[in-house]
Amino acid sequence: MSIATTNPATGQVLKSYDPMSDEQVDAAIGRAHLAFRQLHDTTVAQRAGWLTAAADLLDAERDETARLMTTEMGKTYAAAQAEVGKSATACRFYATNAERMLADEPADADAVKATRAFVRYQPIGPVLAVMPWNFPLWQVMRFAAPALAAGNTGLLKHASNVPQTALYLEDLFRRAGFPEGAFTTLLVGSEAVDRILSDPRVRAATLTGSEPAGRSIGQIAGRELKKTVLELGGSDPFVVMPSADLDRAAEVATTARCQNNGQSCIAAKRFIVHTDVFDEFAGKFAANMAALRVGDPMDPGTDVGPLASERGRAEVHAQVRDAVDQGATVLCGGELPEGDGWFYPPTVVTDLTPRMRMWAEEVFGPVAGLYRVSSYAEAIEVANGTTFGLGSNAWTRDRQEQERFAADLDAGSVFINGMTTSHPELPFGGVKNSGYGRELSALGMREFCNIKTVWVGEGAASAGAGAHAE
Ligand code: NAP
Repeated sequence: MSIATTNPATGQVLKSYDPMSDEQVDAAIGRAHLAFRQLHDTTVAQRAGWLTAAADLLDAERDETARLMTTEMGKTYAAAQAEVGKSATACRFYATNAERMLADEPADADAVKATRAFVRYQPIGPVLAVMPWNFPLWQVMRFAAPALAAGNTGLLKHASNVPQTALYLEDLFRRAGFPEGAFTTLLVGSEAVDRILSDPRVRAATLTGSEPAGRSIGQIAGRELKKTVLELGGSDPFVVMPSADLDRAAEVATTARCQNNGQSCIAAKRFIVHTDVFDEFAGKFAANMAALRVGDPMDPGTDVGPLASERGRAEVHAQVRDAVDQGATVLCGGELPEGDGWFYPPTVVTDLTPRMRMWAEEVFGPVAGLYRVSSYAEAIEVANGTTFGLGSNAWTRDRQEQERFAADLDAGSVFINGMTTSHPELPFGGVKNSGYGRELSALGMREFCNIKTVWVGEGAASAGAGAHAE
């Protein structure tokens, strides 16, 4: 895949880059290694100060950064502005909380026959981050802010279609005060990842992306015995039960499916509706979806911009056609528009069967699958019936049912009467083929820490110089 900015709203290639040579990559890894040693001599407070400076820069540069993201991958300008703000919030969250999250944790010294025992969280070194284009700033920030706060250094291999946002990130951290090499963008294709992760100076990797990419990086990391965090795909269920507020559920369902032009890992993708309210919900939902305005992502009146690539749009349409050819019903959308740009209409498809691709595959575009179920048990069976387990949603005003959904949905998160979103305060990640490990919160920061046990025995305090002198 060539490394280039191509505007998805027009299909025009705006800027392309030669990939870095092996020698350039090796030199960058060397700088990351050196910067890690430099960070060893800094305090958490110093690093927190640099993160705060990064947040201030993000706020000050919000509009131009948002325009860059919209140009590179097609999200609406308003969504891109919000993403810059959220990225600044994450920097401030770790700037404020890193000291507490990294503080030594005392253990029960008596129980382990020590005079003192505690757990210390220490950084491990340069971490390779392989990142996707769909939230080109936020996905990187939720790795970078905690990793840098902890004293690690970052090597970013960003998606090949967002090189300018990738370069902006390197520049941002440098201007914020982090030493040269603390955060470096490697302009390389995915074929370079094996060599980078095999370098002994690179200590771990985090990937946000597709299942095949996760398997590939997991294999390399297994061979090299390196820690990984994998945030992969999802096909999140959105269950609607008879007691739900249907107007609200249909409104949130529309946003949950079409945010980011339908290209979010935690977008609700499968709408599983109890038969008692199916027709009413389906009518409201399809009407909301059909009313969304598709068009120029820079236009403030646009709800849904283009998909990020021609290949991505072709794949979405093939999944819809596969279902229709096998008897599924389209309630709205489903037609490929003519003209420039990789636009796709908000689409609702029902009468799905397990033989159709849409039943179990992730659809990465504004296309909703609608499933009719006749009981709680059937809702859970359909909801848990894919290989994914990223987020999940359930709509019910019944307290007992809420508890049951929290217990029974097999996913990294359960959101009741609301849309799945990520927050710096809450851990984020999946189970099953949606990956492993967690980002955000203190847990995300500790994924790339050496969780070091320190045990101090009898005599340690009195066996110093004074004791020997006697
Ligand atoms: P992708 O093809 O896996 O690309 C993601 C990143 O991985 C890019 O930097 C890509 O580089 C690189 N890559 C691809 N194949 C690789 C390989 N074999 N070895 C090493 N690196 C490789 O994913 P995508 O289709 O662009 O993005 C959409 C996917 O990401 C969806 O499945 C979505 O659900 C998932 N996603 C998950 C989360 C989450 O938090 N769980 C968040 C966002 C997106 P190139 O660009 O150079 O190919």
